[in-house]
Amino acid sequence: MADLPPLREVVARHGLSASKALGQNFLFDEQLLARLAALPGDLADKAVLEIGPGPGGLTRALLRAGARVTAVEMDRRCLPALAELEAAFPGKLRVIEGDAMKLDHNGLMGEPYAVVANLPYNVGTALLVRWLGGEQWPPRWTSLTLMFQQEVAQRIVAGPDDGAYGRLAVLAQWRSTARLAMKVHRSAFTPPPKVMSAVVHLEPAAMPEGVSVRLLEKVTEFAFGQRRKMLRQSLKGLPGALAALEALGIDSQRRAETLTVSEFVSIARELS
Ligand code: SAM
Repeated sequence: MADLPPLREVVARHGLSASKALGQNFLFDEQLLARLAALPGDLADKAVLEIGPGPGGLTRALLRAGARVTAVEMDRRCLPALAELEAAFPGKLRVIEGDAMKLDHNGLMGEPYAVVANLPYNVGTALLVRWLGGEQWPPRWTSLTLMFQQEVAQRIVAGPDDGAYGRLAVLAQWRSTARLAMKVHRSAFTPPPKVMSAVVHLEPAAMPEGVSVRLLEKVTEFAFGQRRKMLRQSLKGLPGALAALEALGIDSQRRAETLTVSEFVSIARELS
């Protein structure tokens, strides 16, 4: 096991003052980082994609768990600190300088991979939507273990009749399992963000047959676009939707937030 200097020292030595614009809130508690790295299960010799390693706290926890890590970081100030980690774990860490939003993750990894990240808040949801979207299923990623603002985490795992239930929950749950794996207090970060955080763990599940992600997204876009309205009003503009409700025996007086994920899937299937 490589003997590494404390993270605070690494940050001080490399002058890594946290940038708000890059969503930088660093984690220094190595026990917490080890627990985070353990959430995806055994990572020994597994390929892991980490977005936003920053000074490398989570990266070192993943490397200690035996993972082969590809880390994508936009802030070039962090590269010297990450180069030290590359030297401490020869052949186990590859650092890519770049914007994770613009990279082809599958092409970069070239093999199935787990994603583990303390995501920058400003790009977290956009990356999640990208990982969950796409017609091809199962995806190349084998799991997603991601830190979000707690409020966003709740929107991912929420069920019907929960105020947090909406498009993101349906997108996350129609062909994946999503669970809230760990809550993280704001004081664990440096600097502390204004809100609490939580880690969500997602694994791909079988894709329901005869449903395209594009159609499902259309249905949820219309339904939750007017979430307080009855379905007969909110789905009026979507051709075939009201007939689909009738064929499925779904009461058009219900509101979007009362429908289960599988009811949304049935409507999308009926429409195709
Ligand atoms: N993983 C570190 C930790 O846990 O202490 C840092 C987490 S910090 C919340 C987010 C990191 O993502 C920062 O290092 C930031 O520079 C980086 N970042 C922000 N936007 C990015 C992007 N579009 N692509 C890649 N990295 C990005």
